[in-house]
Amino acid sequence: MLTQVRKRQTARLVLDFAKFGEAFMTFGKPDRRRQRVFLIVAILFACGPGWTQTPKGRPTTSTKSAAKPARPKLVVVIVVDQMRADYVDKFRGQWSGGLKRLVDEGAWFRAAAYPYAATETCVGHATISTGAFPMHHGMVANSWWDRDQQKMVTCTSDPSVNNTAYAGARTQGGDSAWRMLLPSYAEELKFQTGGATRVVTFSLKARAALTLAGHKADAATWWDSSTGAWVTSGPYRTMPFIEEFVKQHPVAADYGKTWSLSLPRSEYWYDEKAFGAGTVDGWGATFPFPLRGKEGATSPDEAFYQQWSTSPFADTYLTKLAETAVDSLGLGKSGGCDYLGISYSSTDYVGHTFGPRSWEIEDMLVGLDKDLGDLFGHLDQKVGQGNYVVALSADHGVAPIPSDMQKTGFDAGVVSLSELQGRLEKALEPFNFAKPVIARIAGNDVYLAQPIYGQLRHDPAAMKALLDGALATPGVAEVFRAEELADGFETLSEARTAAELSYFASRSGDLFVLQKPYWLTDGSATGKKTYTGTGHGTPYYYDQRVPILFMGYGIQHGEYFERVTPLDIAPTLGALTGITLAVHDGRVLSEGLQKRAAK
Ligand SMILES: [Zn+2]
Repeated sequence: MLTQVRKRQTARLVLDFAKFGEAFMTFGKPDRRRQRVFLIVAILFACGPGWTQTPKGRPTTSTKSAAKPARPKLVVVIVVDQMRADYVDKFRGQWSGGLKRLVDEGAWFRAAAYPYAATETCVGHATISTGAFPMHHGMVANSWWDRDQQKMVTCTSDPSVNNTAYAGARTQGGDSAWRMLLPSYAEELKFQTGGATRVVTFSLKARAALTLAGHKADAATWWDSSTGAWVTSGPYRTMPFIEEFVKQHPVAADYGKTWSLSLPRSEYWYDEKAFGAGTVDGWGATFPFPLRGKEGATSPDEAFYQQWSTSPFADTYLTKLAETAVDSLGLGKSGGCDYLGISYSSTDYVGHTFGPRSWEIEDMLVGLDKDLGDLFGHLDQKVGQGNYVVALSADHGVAPIPSDMQKTGFDAGVVSLSELQGRLEKALEPFNFAKPVIARIAGNDVYLAQPIYGQLRHDPAAMKALLDGALATPGVAEVFRAEELADGFETLSEARTAAELSYFASRSGDLFVLQKPYWLTDGSATGKKTYTGTGHGTPYYYDQRVPILFMGYGIQHGEYFERVTPLDIAPTLGALTGITLAVHDGRVLSEGLQKRAAK
């Protein structure tokens, strides 16, 4: 199944608001006059707390009561790293906990997908968090080539801060959300509600915990995979309860445990051994998977930490950490509206290794369903059912393992980035540019050495040779030049539109080289190694399509088939909590909200 046509509806969507939504939604070119009228109406309504509409429609200060307006006491945003939407379609019959509850009680958006090309972790989390396109929030990849510094930088690397580890453990580097060019919804929530709000996030990955939290937060906590340390950094507070939890429950305590099948063997789809799957150091090819580190190890080593993060034990740990935050900080009891963000990273590690057609990913979801059931039960008890709202989505989906896909008879494979680089260098040889001509190839982005790309733009023959060289590389489908992605040109090419939405001039490459559907890119040095496992990061629907599920306060149970995007999550939470976002590329998912009379 190839990617489906996605019109640029979300890119051009004008304002909407839960109360007025449908009548004012405008697709295609914005109608300025209509937009202005609606803007005024929306602003009047968004002044919300304290204002009511008189019969004449003129706003006046409410004299009824000074009571705080109704809103949830706690907002919970859950991101499942690498979760395809079809996992919900296929596996929900196996669930009895939190994932089942989200489907049974919540608003299930069944046709949700990212509209942009860079379907990676940092990008997806920043998009969910800000409600904006990557072209606006600037987190356009997990890492990119920094032209000034002439080196790769990660989306969270921050030379001005130091990471600190809890419980006396070792860590290194410095991370923050300083490269994210918009505030998160959580930051806006805290800022606009006068500070009573606490913002707390957890993930194994810095790029998930930090983008969900924002530039500052009460706590943003992630995990150092090389040392097994729980980590935070300067802009975020160090929490005594986390220190205590980590001391009492060291990850090393899971050493010696075994990840075994949760369901009877007959319940699993596909083959016991996923075709083309990769391996994890110290593990065999099939269940059960012991968490004992390298072959022959007797105590926690780096392989153990990799095993742990590639297992359901890490999800359970994050869940317990989040429940402890609810108890220790009294989340949902601040009198404001608190924010809890959790990103479950392990599905990504499992998915990369074993692929989407594996017992392993299926079993991870059974475990996550149980963990989320525990979490929601805990919130029911501590915050009260109906007092909190949950939004669950994913940062991206994933492609099938190429060799597995080939079994269908369809063309699939791996683009060797070293071969691509060789072809580009060869193509420019006759034009005598200074060498090296290529500064870096990172995923789909090709960065030429400066100032060569500028010169190429005035040298049509050399540019044509370069583009032809890229297109001649096996597995390459299309090439877009930076100036094509920067000009905002309306095009019927959905791939180009998607690439435009995640293009940011100073961070993106000079060329965007797109592979064919079901092809991955391989950045290994020779490109000759046998590729195992799979990946994501393209504008194809298997990478773009993710679940969106809301549950709890203000949510109208049902299944919704409108095409929506994860950009809509922050504006929808904004509507439920009376928060205005600076950039509003998504829309309020008003169809999934309860219609209530204004009080
Ligand atoms: Zn990934």
